[in-house]
Amino acid sequence: MRISTDGLIIKEQNIGEQDRLVTVLTRSNGIIRAFVKNGRSIKSTKGSATRLLCYSRLVLYINRDTYIIDEAQSEEMFIKLRTDIVKMSLAQYFCELAAVLAPLEQPAEDYLRLMLNALYLLCRNTQPQQVIKAAVELRMMSFYGYMPDLVCCNQCKCYEAAEMYFLPRSGILLCGACKGDISEYSISLGMGVVTAMRHCIYADFNKLFSFTLSDQGLNILERASEEYLIIHMERSFQTLDFYKTMRT
Ligand SMILES: [Zn+2]
Repeated sequence: MRISTDGLIIKEQNIGEQDRLVTVLTRSNGIIRAFVKNGRSIKSTKGSATRLLCYSRLVLYINRDTYIIDEAQSEEMFIKLRTDIVKMSLAQYFCELAAVLAPLEQPAEDYLRLMLNALYLLCRNTQPQQVIKAAVELRMMSFYGYMPDLVCCNQCKCYEAAEMYFLPRSGILLCGACKGDISEYSISLGMGVVTAMRHCIYADFNKLFSFTLSDQGLNILERASEEYLIIHMERSFQTLDFYKTMRT
């Protein structure tokens, strides 16, 4: 069977002398692993359109469980990421997240749109990396079925309070009065960070990356979002560790 779709290459490896095996986040079939025959030839259009972080139109040949990329035409190469090691390492973290969270062999339009928008923004430099990172993490976790409940204090249902705490393990907010002496690990958020986290989860997709925060707020947002993700995925991400080493 042959199908036409589009997708982002999120991982690549060489196989033998000529061929490559790529992991692709496709619109129609989610995460797939596909062979690129003769993909290492420098003359091959298919080879260059199936490099890491290329977004391409693809024709796939499917035989039982095996996918082979028959044709590939590059739509966007994200050139500006390739000359900046910090941006490149953040992009690779997004790729690792998508590889773990996006569905296998099922439509993944939302994930692909999120990834493409994040990569475009990362190239353009108009938003702090912490904004892009938290939005990707929280929105992708929400797609995956792990949406934290940030509507209001989980106990008294107040929407705003001078002190608000995020409990990453339970994925809830508690106001200062309700938190009392609850011993579960929590992160103190200002209302700015609460609003930013709500935005990452509940905002219309078109506005997802459009918010601002103070530098201090960005640091708290980054910590809260990352800890929520790590606690619920019960694993670390090598690409995230690498990004943090590069950024400092
Ligand atoms: Zn409360």
